Amino acid sequence: MVITCQVLLKCSATFPGKPPTMKDALQLCVDAHKDELHSLSRDIWTRPELAGDETHAHDRLVRFFSQDQTWTVDGHYKLPTAFRASWGPVGGGGGEGEPALNVGFLCEYDALPGIGHGCGHNLIAEAGAAAAVGLKAALQIHTELPVPVKITVLGTPAEEDIGGKIDLINAGAFSDVDLVFMAHPAQQDVSFLPCVAVSVKYHGKASHASAYPWEGVNALDAAVLAYNNLSALRQQLKPEWRLHGIIKHGGVKPNIIPAYTELEFYMRTPQIRDLCNLKAKAEACFRAAAVATGCQVEISYPTHDYYDILPNTALANLYENNGKALGIQFPEQPANFSGSTDFGNVSYEVPGIHPFFYIGTDALNHTEEYTEAAGTAAQLFTLRTAKALAMTAVDVVCCPALLQQVREDFRLAKLKLEKLLAP
Ligand SMILES: [Zn+2]
Ligand SMILES: [Zn+2]
Repeated sequence: MVITCQVLLKCSATFPGKPPTMKDALQLCVDAHKDELHSLSRDIWTRPELAGDETHAHDRLVRFFSQDQTWTVDGHYKLPTAFRASWGPVGGGGGEGEPALNVGFLCEYDALPGIGHGCGHNLIAEAGAAAAVGLKAALQIHTELPVPVKITVLGTPAEEDIGGKIDLINAGAFSDVDLVFMAHPAQQDVSFLPCVAVSVKYHGKASHASAYPWEGVNALDAAVLAYNNLSALRQQLKPEWRLHGIIKHGGVKPNIIPAYTELEFYMRTPQIRDLCNLKAKAEACFRAAAVATGCQVEISYPTHDYYDILPNTALANLYENNGKALGIQFPEQPANFSGSTDFGNVSYEVPGIHPFFYIGTDALNHTEEYTEAAGTAAQLFTLRTAKALAMTAVDVVCCPALLQQVREDFRLAKLKLEKLLAP
């Protein structure tokens, strides 16, 4: 933190008065667009769409950026409901072929089955758009930047289900991005966990449940035994590990011995290396139920694994300083709450931050009360967060030493993890 502040002071001396002026410009710009940004967020909130089906949200965001012709907008970018909006570069020494520093902001916009925007992803879309528009305003008033800077907004679908960011990483969408920013609504500060989804299918044999039950092989018994095995296992798991799921398919009729059942479970641990351990324990529970009932079992991992978020101390400290300047109160002792995000995987590709922001309700994510708050009271908090993200980007693009520090934090965090994972 001390090093960060000293570096900032040095930069202010090199470019006297300029970073604060840029921050003023970005705040004014976000405020000037607040009705438009609110309407964007409300439109997405009013028509909630599930992971991968976010066509309305995609079109709405593409329209938002396309109305300002200085943005280059690619709809359906690499995935059907992803998009990219790019602006710049500006600044730098003007040398031919001088590489630009590409600052990325991410928008999520998928909703949850049954409860709409109970995770507030409409606000993530709004915050990403607001931060990008704000940073653009800041860069426009000060093009004598040490390096050329451009902005990329990526619309990243399907966070709640398949992990759209991981598909985008695999498709190369992050390969030219240097820094990445997003923020997620929460009722408190949150530490996110790596997550994996497992699908388990039991195949038995149907038979009349009253006339010839002995002819059947009961796949529902296998599912119930597996569920109970996992419940027993849970007592022996570390307190911060999570294992939770549903019986997705439980049979078709009470008088038919179920020939097919399906379970879906999520597993989470704070460190990736523990996730392998938990997966092995859970698989033993699933297989034991198959052995006990005589069913065949199929175990598969249909979505990507979600990684933990690689911390970037330099960016986190800058964000906190900017947030405090805007009136955000960061708790001394962040509360512990478990969730997962595909931003974790992004954080292994590009230095970035994913702070959490209070939206004026004590309701919990993934509840109807949270959905209500995400569509009503959240504006002040969302735009304040967007400003803090863009101000953090201003700090880094104005100061090569800070950029170097951010990159060094990224390198060291990855190195530390590689050592932890080494056999
Ligand atoms: Zn979420
Ligand atoms: Zn969620």
